[in-house]
Amino acid sequence: MELWFSELHTPGVKLSIKVERQLFSATSEFQRIDIFESKDFGRFLILDGCMMLTEKDEFIYHEMITHVPMCVNPSIKNVLLIGGGDGGTARELLKYSTVETIDLVEIDEMVIEACREYLPQTAIGLDDRRVTIHIEDGLKFVRRCVDAYDLIVVDSTDPFGPGEGLFTKEFYGNCFKALRADGIMVNQHENPFYVNDAIAMQRAHKRIVSSFPISRVYQLHIPTYPSGHWLFGFASKARHPINDADFDGWDRLGIATRYYNTKLHRGSFSLPNYVEELLRDVEPEE
Ligand code: SAM
Repeated sequence: MELWFSELHTPGVKLSIKVERQLFSATSEFQRIDIFESKDFGRFLILDGCMMLTEKDEFIYHEMITHVPMCVNPSIKNVLLIGGGDGGTARELLKYSTVETIDLVEIDEMVIEACREYLPQTAIGLDDRRVTIHIEDGLKFVRRCVDAYDLIVVDSTDPFGPGEGLFTKEFYGNCFKALRADGIMVNQHENPFYVNDAIAMQRAHKRIVSSFPISRVYQLHIPTYPSGHWLFGFASKARHPINDADFDGWDRLGIATRYYNTKLHRGSFSLPNYVEELLRDVEPEE
């Protein structure tokens, strides 16, 4: 008997992955958590039925959410990582000796425990002396922060369930306040292809644009995410993601990556016309 995991990307489109075995299944205070094993994508984490990461393609997401801001500001020392309970983003941040502290604010301790047990490839980022784990709602945590961080990474679930608050104007305004004068915020920003996701992307972009002087969107390709065409937001108080990037300095660091490189960094901010139009529709008139 064959077992398949399926995720509906729209009411009429789904992604299905043949499952070798289920490794974990539980419901926490916040969400249903499943971890499966497959031939094609290795182990994968599902939250409330939505694909979060697979061993096969998680490097794309975690490299692009980390190395773009780290190349724009080589002096990043203190990072606030909201969500990210699988540890993948922390793992990439820890490749920089200049990073001194990572406050990882994850609402659901069960995600951390399950990833530690079944996804060591990403969870390796959780147990470093520079990482402090706070089991708390990121929306509440950031309210207490002022001029405290050089980088905020919003590595959250989608804008419903526990993640909903992380796509609000209040949250982005508090992130602005929590960042220092040279601060950068990057966030997972949904996909532009499916209508409902594109609307969520426009809503988030509109709120970020109204909170930050510099706000751009960049793209990446994640095979197991809806449409495979994914966006991240880049917002900052002072640094432009391309004009102010230290490409040569980043290349000299010799950091091993399988997806990110400084040429791709530049290219990822060049977006398809239909995406530019979606963004322009919600940006203030020049
Ligand atoms: N890094 C993975 C990826 O490659 O997409 C997925 C992101 S990570 C698993 C998303 C995390 O955000 C989940 O562990 C979830 O519990 C957490 N989360 C959702 N809402 C949150 C909130 N309000 N505060 C803190 N963490 C939250």
